[in-house]
Amino acid sequence: MMYSLTDAEYAQALDHQDELTSFRDEFIIGDPERIYLDGNSLGRLPRRTADRLQAIIAHEWGERLISSWNESWISLAGRIGEKIAPLLGAKPEEVIIADSTSVNLFKLAVAALRVNPDRTTIISDDLNFPSDLYILDGITSLFGSSYELKIIPSPDGIMGPVDRLADVLNSHTALLTFSHTVFKSGYVYDLFELTRLAHENGALILWDVSHSVGSVPLALHDSQVDLAVGCTYKYLNGGPGSPAFLYVHEDLQDRLQNPISGWFSQKNQFEFNLEYQAELGIRRFLTGTPAILSLAAVEDGVDLLLEAGIERLRRKSIRQSEYFISLWRKMLRPLGFRLNSPQDPARRGSHISIAHPQGFQINRALVEEMRVVCDFRSPDNLRFGFAPIYNSYMEIYQAVTRLHQVAAEKIYQKYPANQSQVP
Ligand SMILES: *Cc1c(COP(=O)(O)O)cnc(C)c1O
Repeated sequence: MMYSLTDAEYAQALDHQDELTSFRDEFIIGDPERIYLDGNSLGRLPRRTADRLQAIIAHEWGERLISSWNESWISLAGRIGEKIAPLLGAKPEEVIIADSTSVNLFKLAVAALRVNPDRTTIISDDLNFPSDLYILDGITSLFGSSYELKIIPSPDGIMGPVDRLADVLNSHTALLTFSHTVFKSGYVYDLFELTRLAHENGALILWDVSHSVGSVPLALHDSQVDLAVGCTYKYLNGGPGSPAFLYVHEDLQDRLQNPISGWFSQKNQFEFNLEYQAELGIRRFLTGTPAILSLAAVEDGVDLLLEAGIERLRRKSIRQSEYFISLWRKMLRPLGFRLNSPQDPARRGSHISIAHPQGFQINRALVEEMRVVCDFRSPDNLRFGFAPIYNSYMEIYQAVTRLHQVAAEKIYQKYPANQSQVP
């Protein structure tokens, strides 16, 4: 039996062929009619995590109290870091969990600038996550007027400005830093090539892999990447505000200094020595006491991704994105939706942006009455994230048909066009 692309049966057939469908049952799906395509902003809650947190609260916190530090908590940041390492293509001793992505970016960028004081320029692009640019801007003002942040503009708001970078790099360049998968368009940089370009020019490179980890396979160690940071609450499903991770290449670890040198990075922490002496290895990039409950919530989500396998997740992510784009071409493009993501799946992460002049109102209609959750990103972008570990093809199909209905029947018109009216 042959179905055409826009049949529901076609989506059903794709779900039947999907080797990862059983993983959906590992997640709490409160309302099966509510289509959640926002796993790239906040992943779903794994059942195991809900059980684990209850057990930790009752036993480790409720009964064991301070004894739990020695019994399990003190090693948790390292242990979960080691688990994330294969998703990053890193060695286990190159990754640890700490703080937020923004704070880790600050720590690693400052450390990178300090090893090379003769070089004073940081290079990034205007597709980067705003918080990263705020942090970098703060760092350059902290370092003084000889330091400069150069933000290279994307040629089209979709693709990275790769062709311009070779001209911009010179003997003043200290650090290159980009989002590996950019948050709006989903464009994916060639991590290996840019890392090589940075090193050719004597600079270090720091990748923010927040939108890649758990959906796009990475090879940080083999690509000789110096530094990386990223979130655990997106495709890793660690929960709201779960702590971030950082990666430092093993050859670099003992040469770098953590600028927020708290007691968790102190050698022999519990001797309470008054003089700071940095720990060797990745632990020297820790700072203070981790939020244990949020940290513990990261582990089961990571285990699930490891069980599914990053290569299989990537295959499904590409199939789902290609399916969405085919549906866009047939059903949404004729209604005025533009594709704001790369066409080539090799240059694209696991989310897709489409734009429409009434994008803001359309998003309100989707959320308020069509039970489709995606992101709106100013000025006119609707962003759909596909989390291959729990999203089905049928969900993608239904999201597109509901979106089609909102636009074709102009259902969005009853929602205010003014963004300021929404908190
Ligand atoms: C989500 C995201 C962040 C978030 O940073 P926090 O400090 O953890 O809030 C940072 N960078 C990128 C690229 C992101 O996508």
